[in-house]
Amino acid sequence: MKKLRLMRKTDKADESVVFFDVDDTLLDTSTFAETARKAAIELMVDNGLPLDKDEAYYLLKDIIKEKGSNYDRHFNVLTKTVLGKEDPMLVALGMITYHNVKFALLRPFPKTDDTLIYLKSQGYRLAVISNGLTIKQWEKLVRLNIYPFFDEVITSEEVGFSKPSPKIYQEALRRMKGDPDKCVMIGNKFKEDALGAVNAGMSAILVNSNVTEREKIRIKKEKLDIKIIEDIGQVNRVL
Ligand SMILES: [Mg+2]
Repeated sequence: MKKLRLMRKTDKADESVVFFDVDDTLLDTSTFAETARKAAIELMVDNGLPLDKDEAYYLLKDIIKEKGSNYDRHFNVLTKTVLGKEDPMLVALGMITYHNVKFALLRPFPKTDDTLIYLKSQGYRLAVISNGLTIKQWEKLVRLNIYPFFDEVITSEEVGFSKPSPKIYQEALRRMKGDPDKCVMIGNKFKEDALGAVNAGMSAILVNSNVTEREKIRIKKEKLDIKIIEDIGQVNRVL
């Protein structure tokens, strides 16, 4: 089993890079998105969308699931589905409320800043690997004021391949001039973040994951180079 070699503080060459996923790894994306969607729905229903709030919320969730979270016309589809045609006023209300609430709530996990400062103090170079839209992911890093920590943001939009494809990891390694043996990926999803990175020759650390017992057994059985910790605040115990 390949140990997380970069964990030894004396063994950090320039080829060491700590890569991060963004959503639900650096910030609590799921919680703030849910709150923002509920606020948007509430206003749309109060202003004439003829559904009750729960129905409208679950319909919106279905639309997001079907269209993907990077699609930018969820509220248009919602009004069209309910009313037979788009309602521009309701779409605008929904969109503006969603964005206002989201940006009001957007903040990193309590230990994100400390952990990034710690990793920099240890000499690691940091970068992001994300299945998302490039500007949208940079926007989050800028709004959270953590963008100066990262040298590169590598996205599926740019590369043309999504995690867990090894191709996005290989492109990230190429761009950061990283040696996979000395690089680690930190993320919340077993398949996308941990398996993907390991298949590209890197180590992986899972945070905030709902990794299943079956996956844990698989890690053990196949001796996968994946560590599971609770949250980003525990990174300093393993790196
Ligand atoms: Mg994530």
